[in-house]
Amino acid sequence: MPRYEFRCRACGDTFEVNRPMARAAEPASCPQGHADTVKLLSTVAVTGRGGGASGGAPAPAGGGCCGGGCGC
Ligand SMILES: [Zn+2]
Repeated sequence: MPRYEFRCRACGDTFEVNRPMARAAEPASCPQGHADTVKLLSTVAVTGRGGGASGGAPAPAGGGCCGGGCGC
């Protein structure tokens, strides 16, 4: 689950919130209860690195002459 870093503008504290990406834009309240927080550019890029590297071209099944059309 991605981790987002927030900073409270009321007390200046920074804190992290683990939440689904679908809720990334929701505001978070700081541990002291303040609601005036801003989301920082955070460690999401570290978590998301390296995705989708395994998509090679699939080998065609049944290659060669005996694919079915020639009757050999
Ligand atoms: Zn605060």
